Amino acid sequence: MDDKLILMIPGPTPVPEQALLALAKHPIGHRSSEFTPIMGEVFQNLKWLHQTENDVLVLASSGTGAMEAGIINFLSPGDRVLVGSNGKFGERWGEVCQAYGLNADIITAEWGKPLDTEQFREKLEADTQKQIKAVIVTHSETSTGVLNDLETINRHVKAHGEALIIVDAVTSLGAVNLPIDEWGIDVVASGSQKGYMIPPGLAFVSVSAKAWEAYKTAKLPKYYLDLGKYRKDAAKNSFPFTPPVNLIVALQTTLQMMQKEGLENIFARHQRLKNATREAVKALSLPLFAPDNAASPAITAVAPVQVESEQIRKVLKKRYDIAMAGGQDHLKGKIFRIGHLGFVSDRDILTAIASLEAALLELGYDAFTPGAGVAAAAKVFKS
Ligand SMILES: *Cc1c(COP(=O)(O)O)cnc(C)c1O
Repeated sequence: MDDKLILMIPGPTPVPEQALLALAKHPIGHRSSEFTPIMGEVFQNLKWLHQTENDVLVLASSGTGAMEAGIINFLSPGDRVLVGSNGKFGERWGEVCQAYGLNADIITAEWGKPLDTEQFREKLEADTQKQIKAVIVTHSETSTGVLNDLETINRHVKAHGEALIIVDAVTSLGAVNLPIDEWGIDVVASGSQKGYMIPPGLAFVSVSAKAWEAYKTAKLPKYYLDLGKYRKDAAKNSFPFTPPVNLIVALQTTLQMMQKEGLENIFARHQRLKNATREAVKALSLPLFAPDNAASPAITAVAPVQVESEQIRKVLKKRYDIAMAGGQDHLKGKIFRIGHLGFVSDRDILTAIASLEAALLELGYDAFTPGAGVAAAAKVFKS
């Protein structure tokens, strides 16, 4: 049947009907009197979502544009930075640093394991000359389903005193608590196709007063992604360049939905979706790729042994119209990933798990009692 696809990849994520309808409207002028109040509301609500009084700037780009902006606006060629890398997106941070000639010290952990916060503490404590200009980390590592311990890493950065902390929160913002002002996180990058519940095309960067200080002396080249331009225009609820106005109108709608649900409830829902998914996967005797104490609320990676990941994905797509993600790079064919970020309900998880069970049975995998996964998820939802 057409049009029954359920997206359970970690972005793009499902889009609610209200936002789809907003997208279908005629574009309006981005310098018009209709647009300015919409943008005013959106900027206000973005601060609410980010739990910050800092500037939250909006870019027309994918999430990587926000990551790149987060580097080039605050650093200079040759600057020493510490980069955490335990997956595809941590590697991307390293690549951006390399592209701009930064002196990046990469702290790695095996894919599927969280970053070791002690390694950050040691490097930061050893830096008595205060040469480390920034610590750069991925909060929720989408490629593996690992949630890094940002709070602890940030505490070590604060003890250092000088370094900025720059965070990829693309699949953590709007899924797990990230109190930017309370923790003092300097730069936070995110993208519209993840927790924001709208299609790809917008990226967001929050910038602290300390980061704006660094901006004044940062020497890396920039033009389209020069955040100073966006800051100046944001003060007038405007943009330096033409923004995708339809996406902004859709974002106005989803931010209102989020406010209605409330931050606490949003975080609790993602926690529940994660717990239900993980309990179900355990009940199906399939190995989870990330440990319980470092599991992302946005995405669950599964590493089946007796049955092939790609076969599971194929059957789910073909027979049940459910799209799940595969593994990236060396994890291709080794894991599949269940996205539960954004516009996802308890029912979506029950549907996904029931379909997963059916797909496993079709593939001849019988290391579970049929219904055990659904029962385990239902138990989490009941409590
Ligand atoms: C999706 C994602 C990004 C951004 O990817 P784009 O394709 O540029 O939008 C960055 N970091 C993480 C952790 C992500 O999940």
